[in-house]
Amino acid sequence: MTNPTRLFTNFIGGAWQPAHHAETFSDENQAARGSVLARFQSSTPADVTAAVDAADKAFRVWRRASVADRQQLGSRFLQLLGERREELARIVSQENGKTIREARAEVDSAIREGTHHVHQIGTFGGHVLPAGAGAYTGWMQYHPLGVAGIISPWNFPLNVMCRKALPALLTGNTVVFKPATFTPWTGIYLAQLFEGAGFPAGVFNCVTGLGSAIGNALIEDPRVRAISFTGSTEVGRKIQARAAQRLTRTQLELGGKNALIVLEDANLETAVDAAVTAGFACAGQWCTSTSRLLLQADIHDAFLDRLSARCARMEVGDPLDERTEMGPVAGPEQFRTITAAIAQASSEGARLVMGGLGDDGGYFIRPTVFDGVTPAMTLFRHEVFGPVLAATKFATLDEALRLANDLPYGLSSALFTRDVAAAMRYINEIEAGMAHVNIHTGFKDPGLPFGGWKESGFGLPENSRTGLEFFVDYKSVYVKA
Ligand code: NAP
Ligand code: MG
Repeated sequence: MTNPTRLFTNFIGGAWQPAHHAETFSDENQAARGSVLARFQSSTPADVTAAVDAADKAFRVWRRASVADRQQLGSRFLQLLGERREELARIVSQENGKTIREARAEVDSAIREGTHHVHQIGTFGGHVLPAGAGAYTGWMQYHPLGVAGIISPWNFPLNVMCRKALPALLTGNTVVFKPATFTPWTGIYLAQLFEGAGFPAGVFNCVTGLGSAIGNALIEDPRVRAISFTGSTEVGRKIQARAAQRLTRTQLELGGKNALIVLEDANLETAVDAAVTAGFACAGQWCTSTSRLLLQADIHDAFLDRLSARCARMEVGDPLDERTEMGPVAGPEQFRTITAAIAQASSEGARLVMGGLGDDGGYFIRPTVFDGVTPAMTLFRHEVFGPVLAATKFATLDEALRLANDLPYGLSSALFTRDVAAAMRYINEIEAGMAHVNIHTGFKDPGLPFGGWKESGFGLPENSRTGLEFFVDYKSVYVKA
């Protein structure tokens, strides 16, 4: 499975083929610096155009496939995900660095969400005007858009892509998918499963290569009617600007700086659990990771004492070891930016409660906690995307909400309290796409929308009904007999 000579090609029009310029790149096992897992195509804009050609051709047939047929293929894909769970989880864990248990949970989450979409499409119809509305009958019906472009990040190389691709395919669109360059194997593996599930040639296509080299070819092709992107706010902004030229619709799931607020009446043990889970799972590289801790003055010290004790016990190491609680961060670039953010926080006057670098041999950073973080500090305002928590003390709920909302981000949030009135105020006033009470910031259910406010997102959110609505056009029909 770690055969270094293994070379994967693009999946276009139902065939596996090399890129136009036969150049390749490799991906690395994050727990062993310098190791090579496999090689992949460095595609060019011409390869993207070939994939869009195939997807556009396939669309003419796929758009007419019955919902029952689409459901059957979607279910078959999910069944394969289940059958290959362990093999897939090992690939995700090695490419990304998340623990094997987190990688299995990612497969499970993709199956749960996919199953939700497969069921949901069965009743995803428009609506009819009430009888007698006029001398006509009127209704609204949905139509697939055409080719959908999907660009995904490395932090959830499997789940994010499935959350986009299944709704696109189930609503009758065809797909051109570009995985993150950091996690190409997971992307290719998923393409193999779409092939294995029996989706017709050209309905699902996968092209690997740098986003900066081939992204524009996908966004600017007039046959690509929708771009669903998950990644950084910075790249999301560029995609949005380009897509606007053709009025191509976008669904952007972007960065965050998610706050977990702890009031003095909270159950501290569950609040600490939530901070550990959402602060350090995937080495703090969830978009919905907790990155700010807003702690009410009375419990501030007790909370940090308990949190430190938990962090000190955490097993950081080989992600394939079942006992490991936190793996390495995702590669050299992440390692550099996270360690630089830690150094900067110290130099700006934040107090390091605990943390630092882990064992040698991989990109390990121990769970890190800073206290005394003020809104003027970089650590308060900028997404680190690593296992680094920034604690800030507050006096009143008013102040906590002000601190939580004081940023351009608005992805997720959480409040820990037993006070229903405080919880309701928080729910109504927090500026975020997700508000959790006594549940960690990363929790989600496929029945509810997954997306951010402000600069954390744009367009209809994923999951729920909106996850399907993003991929369709709406037609209002008026019929007179
Ligand atoms: P990224 O650098 O923005 O990359 C995301 C994807 O965009 C990758 O496939 C990347 O390709 C591609 N890309 C890069 N430049 C592009 C361009 N000019 N045109 C088109 N595509 C381009 O983000 P990342 O570093 O992979 O992921 C971390 C970020 O994602 C964090 O900010 C995190 O908060 C966010 N995130 C958000 C959510 C959410 O649902 N809101 C979920 C997960 C992650 P290459 O890999 O080839 O560069
Ligand atoms: Mg990046």
